[in-house]
Amino acid sequence: MAKLLPIIINPDPILRKKSLPVANDDIATKKMQVLFADMSKTMIEKDGVGLAAPQIGKNIRIITISTKDGTICMANPKITRKSWAKEWNEEGCLSVPGVFGKVSRHKKVNCIYTDKDGKKTKIEASGLMAFVIQHEIDHLDGVLFIDKAKDIKKIEI
Ligand code: ZN
Repeated sequence: MAKLLPIIINPDPILRKKSLPVANDDIATKKMQVLFADMSKTMIEKDGVGLAAPQIGKNIRIITISTKDGTICMANPKITRKSWAKEWNEEGCLSVPGVFGKVSRHKKVNCIYTDKDGKKTKIEASGLMAFVIQHEIDHLDGVLFIDKAKDIKKIEI
């Protein structure tokens, strides 16, 4: 059974470290499948649309994204192409609870990653999916949405 993992809350130095790539041989392992399952459960139960490994205390380049067709797990995600066009959208983050702000992101991105079976995969994302990928990859580089946001609002929780 997948476990609910505690979320690292800002400010914590873990959220500011650059995360390290995962070795290919480590991706399809039992240990990594457990991590993917636990991150997926945590993301869904906390109503997140995405989760990055630093948010659960691991500085490795792993993210999960929630889609209507289920969770996508990505190891070593990398944006290979981005649209010139950008859009401001309101964002929040499980690691920055009660805070929302508008962030400008590329409307479309192409992303390469290794899936949970260790297979190299490519995705062309637009709209919410594109924004989530950019937000989560920022986490892997120690960047939080509040670093880029305007019109920041704080809500009592
Ligand atoms: Zn976040």
